[in-house]
Amino acid sequence: MLEIECLACDKTLELPKYINTDNYDGQLVCSKCKALLHLKFVKDELLKYKLIERARPRTPVKFEIERVTRGEILS
Ligand SMILES: [Zn+2]
Repeated sequence: MLEIECLACDKTLELPKYINTDNYDGQLVCSKCKALLHLKFVKDELLKYKLIERARPRTPVKFEIERVTRGEILS
């Protein structure tokens, strides 16, 4: 199985089965940090590989911060 390193977190990722390394041009979400990557394979060779978007902060943390901020303004 082919493995690549995530451009955002540097962890080694196993390529999912749906990615056909003989001919693939599309996106992949890092299973570790959820960053969005774009890669292109032709005949098992990685021709293009770039980071599209780093994972956004987790929603529960953001909600918590907004709630606290709003509370401070009101009190
Ligand atoms: Zn990652």
